[in-house]
Amino acid sequence: MNIDIKTKDEQNIILIIEGVDVPFINALRRICMVEIPTMAVENVEIYKNDSRIFDEVLSHRLGLIPLKTDLDSITLREECDCEDHCTSCSVSLLLKETGPKVVYSGDLTSQDSKIVPVHDRIPLLKLRDGEEVELEAIAQLGIGLEHAKWQPTTTSAYMYYPVITIDSEKCEVCAKCADECPRGVLQFDEKENKIIVLDPEQCTMCKTCSKDCEPSAITVEGREDKFIFKIETDGSLSPEEVITTACDILAQKSDKILTFK
Ligand code: SF4
Ligand code: SF4
Ligand SMILES: [Zn+2]
Repeated sequence: MNIDIKTKDEQNIILIIEGVDVPFINALRRICMVEIPTMAVENVEIYKNDSRIFDEVLSHRLGLIPLKTDLDSITLREECDCEDHCTSCSVSLLLKETGPKVVYSGDLTSQDSKIVPVHDRIPLLKLRDGEEVELEAIAQLGIGLEHAKWQPTTTSAYMYYPVITIDSEKCEVCAKCADECPRGVLQFDEKENKIIVLDPEQCTMCKTCSKDCEPSAITVEGREDKFIFKIETDGSLSPEEVITTACDILAQKSDKILTFK
């Protein structure tokens, strides 16, 4: 298997993966989406809430705040020996505010400096003059299979690697395909008097180019052993952490099957 990193930043990565098949890449995609543990608020103790927002709705909003996750410093609740929650499996985020003000995710004070909201400006509620809110939100590790709030990815997708073939014997060099390609993948080369493929990785395989090609000289197909794989995270984990953890989980699952045999 060959893996090339095409682009990457804090929340996105695009990989070109070669030498695998569809079941493998789809298993990796699904694990990235719903089996990587991340932190999210699971329990909320509301001591005071004078705002117009119901306690249940406020708790739901708190649950959906993406939290930066440090997988090395926290254990899953099921694997912890404590009865309810402790600092090994949980992190408390405290909120105590008085109006008038809009309360944002950044107003939460975390007991662990590594487990904090990814974004500070997610509005939680509005307090009028003299109104108060006071609560403790308890965040724990979980996986997206249990609840979407624990999904680390906002995109986890792959596509077949495009292969664009132009039959030079059939091609009449009318340049219709280059004019109609919405992604600028094809170009008419005046010097060589032929159509050239600039960057096949930009091709979405829409096949617009082949629809109006009268001599059927151009074909667009996807390779079944090479894929463009894209991950976008909500910021709770980096895309590299998501991919490497997914590979570990896939390896553990494969080991289980081998042992079972
Ligand atoms: S539309 Fe067909 S015939 Fe015309 S340039 Fe493109 S491949 Fe050649
Ligand atoms: S399939 Fe679509 S994106 Fe790809 S080269 Fe043809 S027109 Fe362009
Ligand atoms: Zn515990």
